[in-house]
Amino acid sequence: MTRASTTARTLADLVAAGVLPPTAAGDPALAQVARDYAIAVTPDLLDLIEGAPAGDPIARQFIPTAQEATTTSDELTDPIGDHTFAPVRGIVHRYPDRVLLKPLHACPVYCRFCFRREQVGPGGDMLDDAGLEAALDYIATHPDVWEVVVTGGDPFMLSPRRIARIVAALDATAHVAVIRFHTRVPVVEPARVSDALVAALKTTRAAVYVGVHCNHARELTSAARTSLATLADAGIPLLSQSVLLRGVNDSVEALEALFRALVAARVRPYYLHHPDLARGTSHFRLSIDEGQALMRALRGRLSGLCQPTYVLDIPGGYGKSPIGPTYVGDPASDGQRTIEDFRGDRHDYPAR
Ligand SMILES: *Cc1c(COP(=O)(O)O)cnc(C)c1O
Ligand code: SF4
Repeated sequence: MTRASTTARTLADLVAAGVLPPTAAGDPALAQVARDYAIAVTPDLLDLIEGAPAGDPIARQFIPTAQEATTTSDELTDPIGDHTFAPVRGIVHRYPDRVLLKPLHACPVYCRFCFRREQVGPGGDMLDDAGLEAALDYIATHPDVWEVVVTGGDPFMLSPRRIARIVAALDATAHVAVIRFHTRVPVVEPARVSDALVAALKTTRAAVYVGVHCNHARELTSAARTSLATLADAGIPLLSQSVLLRGVNDSVEALEALFRALVAARVRPYYLHHPDLARGTSHFRLSIDEGQALMRALRGRLSGLCQPTYVLDIPGGYGKSPIGPTYVGDPASDGQRTIEDFRGDRHDYPAR
């Protein structure tokens, strides 16, 4: 396959890139999916795709399928309750000490399982200058905000000039100690991690962290690892967020390879997200029991550095909770507890 030079944004683009069969362009179910949810697959990812979505963990994350036309009754337009906690446009303030700042809704790619899939998309809905100033003003006037999570959409899609404007304003806000960017860019469009972007992340006071969304070890190509090294070499601590997805990374082997590859690239695994109840994503979901069994198996095999926290964003806007597994047994009648070790054997521990 020849290398595509631009991002594929339509079914016809995907057919031309050889990642969908020619019949796909005329498939009415797929056409409906393409109208409902944005499509974007970068050249870097088109290069990585080796087969059909059913069998290839990269294709499955980014290539639309007719399965997305199926919405189950428990699925929600706003699965994590962003709208309930939005005091001004572009801000979500759910926890007392931190806010989300969402300056735009565009992403370099559109993940088929996205929890904000009804909000994200190309065009429109970027905060204009006045909207951005109002959002920054909200932060400046709320002294409890210790940390700002800059997300979207994908904030690394902004120009370095606009990123620098956001970073400078937050750096000048004395109560903001931490500015955390969440992005998929270093993995899916690594060339965007330029010297100008790194310069835009420079602060004089506040700590800048970058959280990278990555779900499969194959996403960490040499170009992706180079972009991560550029950020790490600039002194920026790197974290990862991954989503547990059926058919993408729902095996111990896939998760082990992912977390080892991240740590080897100086990215500390932070969260493994249980999939959200976004519309048209039931084919990606697995049970909490399955997720806990995978986490238990990882604990037995991998360094502590490679262990993310397994979390669920509770539908309705109640926030994220760690969902196990637990290694502490129920108390016995004398209060004594049992603790499970990494092999699954149990040991007593006194009540006090
Ligand atoms: C996920 C999220 C955060 C960040 O949560 P951490 O657990 O600190 O990573 C903050 N605000 C909102 C609204 C969130 O959804
Ligand atoms: S990069 Fe994040 S916000 Fe954008 S489509 Fe993927 S999951 Fe959604």
